[in-house]
Amino acid sequence: MTHTCFIDLDHTLFDTTAWHYFIAQHVCKKFKIAPEIYFKAYEEMRDRSGVNAVGDPMQLAQLLTQKYQVPVSVDDFSREWYQHGLESADFIYDDSLNFLEALGVHGVRRVLLSRGNPKIQQLKLQGTGLSDCVDEVIIVEDEKYSPLVKHLEEADGETFFVNDHVGENKEIAAKFPDVIVIPISRNAEKCPDGVCETLDEALEFIVEGFLK
Ligand SMILES: [Mg+2]
Repeated sequence: MTHTCFIDLDHTLFDTTAWHYFIAQHVCKKFKIAPEIYFKAYEEMRDRSGVNAVGDPMQLAQLLTQKYQVPVSVDDFSREWYQHGLESADFIYDDSLNFLEALGVHGVRRVLLSRGNPKIQQLKLQGTGLSDCVDEVIIVEDEKYSPLVKHLEEADGETFFVNDHVGENKEIAAKFPDVIVIPISRNAEKCPDGVCETLDEALEFIVEGFLK
């Protein structure tokens, strides 16, 4: 019997907000863009996509030039953006690697399941080396359910799902009663009761409840 743990990337294993600020800082300095304009354009793009993660820098550059009259070459902007985006190793949360390693030691299959622009998600993975710390990486662009359907057809152990997205967690809990959803909130001040603040807590929940 093999247990499987699906783990989200953004704001679960990886501090996407801090990483994005880091890139934005460099890009704004290089192209003399006011940070408030950058983030205004970014938020507009993010709201359109509905994903709380960074979209496509090329689209961002186009929006900056067309709507906000920022004179920047789309190619130069994208190149700079991706170059700093690769410097992602410092933005893994302190407990992420231990969590993945401990699950591996317990024989739990680790599947990194992330929703977003594949090119951007791969950029984060490439810089962090996180792909090497899991058994499988799945990146979806629309919703997170299809890989779960496929997995549940063959699963012979427990299935865990560690994720910060409240809406997705609710839907997954409703659609897949067999999946043990472990919600996480990295924002300690806003972390509701019953929600893990850290992956150490999620690990304890899995180990104490299912692996002993
Ligand atoms: Mg997330």
